[in-house]
Amino acid sequence: MGKVEVDAERCKSCGLCIEVCPRQVLKIGDKTNRKGYCYVEVAKAEACIGCALCGVMCPDIALTIYKDSGSEAAR
Ligand code: SF4
Ligand code: SF4
Repeated sequence: MGKVEVDAERCKSCGLCIEVCPRQVLKIGDKTNRKGYCYVEVAKAEACIGCALCGVMCPDIALTIYKDSGSEAAR
């Protein structure tokens, strides 16, 4: 259906993408990036519908979403 990739080094752990995701795909992980933030991880990849709401919401452009065709939908 869709696929989301997280750029760990851009993520500031604000949680906005987690709140907006209708499928609970994302979660704050327990690993930290170089800035010390626990970055977002893809917890339920199979649930992603490629709606791109998370990518629109992210203030740090840390998310790339792909539709099932493989094309990039939004950042
Ligand atoms: S593209 Fe939609 S379903 Fe997939 S992680 Fe983002 S908000 Fe959730
Ligand atoms: S909205 Fe962006 S910066 Fe905030 S937690 Fe999600 S990926 Fe990280």
